[in-house]
Amino acid sequence: MKVSKRAEAVPPSATLAVSARAKELTAQGVDVVGFGAGAPDFDTPDYIKDAAVQSLKAGQTKYTAASGILELRSAIADKLKKENGLEYSPGQIIVNIGGKHSVYEAMQAVIDPGEEVILPTPYWVTYPETVKLAGGIVKAVQTDKENSYKITTEQLKAAINEKTALIVINSPNNPGGFTYTPDELAELAKVLEGTRVMVLSDEIYEKLIYGDTKFVSFASLSEDAYNRTLTLNGFSKAFSMTGWRLGYTAGPLEVIKAMGRLQSHMTSNPVTFGQYAAIAALGEPAADAIEHMRVEFEKRGKYMTERLNNIKGIQCCESTGAFYCFPDVSGHFGRIINGAKISGSMDFAEALLEQANVALVPGLPFGCDNNVRLSFATSLEQITKGLDRMEKWLKE
Ligand code: PMP
Repeated sequence: MKVSKRAEAVPPSATLAVSARAKELTAQGVDVVGFGAGAPDFDTPDYIKDAAVQSLKAGQTKYTAASGILELRSAIADKLKKENGLEYSPGQIIVNIGGKHSVYEAMQAVIDPGEEVILPTPYWVTYPETVKLAGGIVKAVQTDKENSYKITTEQLKAAINEKTALIVINSPNNPGGFTYTPDELAELAKVLEGTRVMVLSDEIYEKLIYGDTKFVSFASLSEDAYNRTLTLNGFSKAFSMTGWRLGYTAGPLEVIKAMGRLQSHMTSNPVTFGQYAAIAALGEPAADAIEHMRVEFEKRGKYMTERLNNIKGIQCCESTGAFYCFPDVSGHFGRIINGAKISGSMDFAEALLEQANVALVPGLPFGCDNNVRLSFATSLEQITKGLDRMEKWLKE
């Protein structure tokens, strides 16, 4: 059976591959500690579930407008205005089937074959694949540990050429929780002035920030930034709604219309009763549930970072957002642990899972082979147990 070259070239999601192996071991009765999760370990708040049930009971079970119901796009416009200082009309907003779909569709809408997309590295695994699927060329820009893995203005200037169509800015970031300060973003925005480079600002971890970190939407930095930016967000992380598949994109009308045309053939509307529940999610009661989750994540992130930095051969930057640590473990490369040669992040992750039953994600698919990703979207007990095992394993 023939498979297209395009599909053949797409690797499976690395984050899902690790959890598949961890599940396999668990099914065999092995007690695995999982640091692979990309989802909050909290349930969707009840008031959101109730809204979905009510919607179903009210018979809201048919197709809607392909880009999402006007009431939801209006509620998103209100949210973006109130919380992010952004003025978008409902027509400048499209509701997608999860933020991942927003990324795919945005790439399809703005990239022509042969154009370059700048990805500050480490990047979320889905970005390069969606760039390539749109015929684009990935321009990975390796960031430095010393700059908390954030792209500098010099690096950005050097990466731009006449083929550059887009840069993806993801703050707070997956895989490391690195967050740009408003000043850093403003400096980057200045570099883009006078170029034709668009920005895909992935703000999905907006609500999960720690310490004195401040979140700012890229498009709110200036009129120039607003005009060149697609603002991406969704319900998965802030409202613990990963399974509901609801994301959205706001931006220049022509681009959002183009995404709407694509969506009208690709998927049609996001699930109807989910859209009604999303309107409820954006209402006032959310604040308490989000804050409870944020405070819990902050505690766990601090603990995990401290523990990791106390392990010889590991260096971990502070996680200022999201729910990930992305330590550099290259101090252990070249070692042989219980017969397993550790040459890079893939070997590290595999040997740790097989020998010490701790599941984490190798850094290679995020563009950084010196690192591994650990999610702290799991209980403190599990975090303690997993890090104890990892520490012991590295001493062997
Ligand atoms: N952007 C980033 C940076 C992410 O980490 C994720 C989820 N892993 C998404 C977008 C998409 O999330 P979803 O498709 O669940 O909305």
